[in-house]
Amino acid sequence: MALFEAAPEARRTTPNPCVYAFGRGPEGATCSTCVSLRMFQRKRRWYKCSLRAPGGPSTDHRIGWEACAKYIEKGHEDG
Ligand code: SF4
Repeated sequence: MALFEAAPEARRTTPNPCVYAFGRGPEGATCSTCVSLRMFQRKRRWYKCSLRAPGGPSTDHRIGWEACAKYIEKGHEDG
């Protein structure tokens, strides 16, 4: 039995694992403007979504990915 079922419309159409888990976000929104996106920088810059399990490079997040249903636009955290 799967831990969760992908939202049917998200299957094989998006690389964002959160869209599989939670469904699609607002039309046209990307992770780049979501409060859950975190940036890290050492020799290179990378991003993580705070809703994904932490891990190595395989859990790096692309800022241009389409937003998931947990999307909250920066500046609108209080509703
Ligand atoms: S929209 Fe926000 S919560 Fe959803 S995957 Fe992107 S950064 Fe994570």
